[in-house]
Amino acid sequence: MTPSPSSAAAAHSVLIPEAVDRPGDDPIFTLHAEAVRRQRAGEDIVNATIGALMEDDGRLAILPVVRDTLAAVDPLRAAAYAPIAGEPAFLQAVIADVFAQSPLTSQAVAVATPGGTGAIHNAIVNFLEPDQALLTTSYYWSPYEILAHHNRRTVETFEMFDRQGGLDVADFERALAAQMARQGRALIVLNTPCHNPTGFSMHPAERRAVASIVREQSRKGPIAVLVDHAYAHFGGVHAGDWVADFEDLGPRVALLVAWTVSKSFAQYGARVGALVAAHPEAAERARLFNALSYSCRGTWSNCNHLGMLAITELLWDATKRERVERERGRLIGLLDERVRIFNQHAPQAGLCYPRYEGGFFVTVFSPDARASAARMRELGVFVVPVQGAVRVALCSTPAAHIPRLVEALAEGVSAAQA
Ligand code: PLP
Repeated sequence: MTPSPSSAAAAHSVLIPEAVDRPGDDPIFTLHAEAVRRQRAGEDIVNATIGALMEDDGRLAILPVVRDTLAAVDPLRAAAYAPIAGEPAFLQAVIADVFAQSPLTSQAVAVATPGGTGAIHNAIVNFLEPDQALLTTSYYWSPYEILAHHNRRTVETFEMFDRQGGLDVADFERALAAQMARQGRALIVLNTPCHNPTGFSMHPAERRAVASIVREQSRKGPIAVLVDHAYAHFGGVHAGDWVADFEDLGPRVALLVAWTVSKSFAQYGARVGALVAAHPEAAERARLFNALSYSCRGTWSNCNHLGMLAITELLWDATKRERVERERGRLIGLLDERVRIFNQHAPQAGLCYPRYEGGFFVTVFSPDARASAARMRELGVFVVPVQGAVRVALCSTPAAHIPRLVEALAEGVSAAQA
């Protein structure tokens, strides 16, 4: 029998077999690179691939107060190692930022992580046994799968949308009950508000329904609910006050929050984040803190001290915090205007997409996403094909380009239907 290329490669490689056929380039960065190459060659390109908020003139949008605070950190303090779990003042400030006035503020522990990615990593390795699956929506941020597989866990999904376009709570219940019966535990990952890639934010009634199902299913075994809060602050009116809906999940449930400065402080490169874990019992909180700190030591050791010190100051200092909110408000306004223009043009062009009230991305459904994205590239418009849809990064699309983007999306979807 002729060996398959991968087994032939495995026979020659120094790598262990499972690492031999790893994909090299991230597909999103590959598409972005092609868009940039064609733009540099003189074409008029709309590049809606990159998940960072850009000004309308194409520069990365930042918060000047963050830049100034980073520049003013004492270099000697920054040069020293941060504590493994993170600076206590940083962790306290993050807990207060997440839970504000909620009683959960006094029922939470946290550890510093390199961005939300590190927080998700720590959740996967501490709340699932090897070979068990996390549970998330049928559309999801693809690194969840890499993080799970890399740590010998997997991903299972429930149908994200019901017939009315809301969260399919019934399928969530079905999937969770099946996991509890099979695994005896669950790690649920909910990316809200402003879900990547769909742009969907859970409404209060949906959150309350999820909370009640979790409470009920936790009679069968322990459950961790991880709110992936990467897009906190960018959700619409229904996004606020989510904590109250998850305040009382019961004694067998840990509420986790993957907190990050990447989008909310426009500091993607700082790699500052935290995993917050709330639980009603003090003894369990101590165990959670120890387990999460151990995972920090066993992976990245400790995080970027400079970034952590600057963000601590921005969260504690009332004047700086007020500047953060003002400057962030401008960025939210920039994005909301793009969302408004998209929501104005897209229905008229016949595009089908989820409830979209704010956020970096939206997905437009297509029967053949690859064909749609390929047709759009011919028109000089770059989007990312995902399963059943194309992901549109309005965060990096100037407002003036949105009408052209919508036209190209309509053309892309009809090309896939032909
Ligand atoms: N979760 C989602 C859904 C994201 O889109 C991202 C970043 O794009 C992250 C988590 C983590 O980002 P970071 O590790 O930069 O905080």
